Amino acid sequence: KIEAGKMSIEKAEFSLDNVLANISNLFAFQIEEKGLELLFDVDMNVPMALKGDELRLNQVLTNLVSNAIKFTSNGEIIISIKLVSNDEQNAEIRFDVKDTGIGISKEQIERLFTSFSQADSSTTRKYGGSGLGLAISKQIIELMGGSISLESIPNVGSDFNFTIKFELQEKQKDFAQNTN
Ligand code: ADP
Repeated sequence: KIEAGKMSIEKAEFSLDNVLANISNLFAFQIEEKGLELLFDVDMNVPMALKGDELRLNQVLTNLVSNAIKFTSNGEIIISIKLVSNDEQNAEIRFDVKDTGIGISKEQIERLFTSFSQADSSTTRKYGGSGLGLAISKQIIELMGGSISLESIPNVGSDFNFTIKFELQEKQKDFAQNTN
């Protein structure tokens, strides 16, 4: 759908709280089963009443968190959310999905965001997967006007982060004005 240029991005009111609650529910069982922890670190000044594509945001976070769980055998997954900048209309928000997993080497990072690429062929044997998730996530984020990047240290962990600018809901704009 993306390659055909047919994927459109919605703009509707949604609450960021909801998205995070969904992620938490979706992965609770897997996290418990692997003996990991899923932590949310959301800055106080991040607005929750946004306009944008909730479904696509969900897809991207789901993909990143699912990878983080897949490639981590002990420790924690932290989703941290920060306000990068804002004005009366918009808020630019940064999402980080950090894990304490196997990590990715520098050479592998360069190949990662290409369709069907996996860090190396032993990954495929051990963990399965198609290598499509990140390529799609990257395109979705770019369609939403954002960008994704990655920092990782082998055997220490990875930090996938992306930044997206969302329009604020009317009530959130009032809130912003009153607290400025
Ligand atoms: P898939 O998981 O289906 O192979 P992805 O595009 O989601 O496809 O990931 C591509 C590759 O990137 C994975 O096969 C793995 O090598 C690497 N990778 C992705 N996320 C992580 C992570 N959190 N930790 C370590 N390696 C990762």
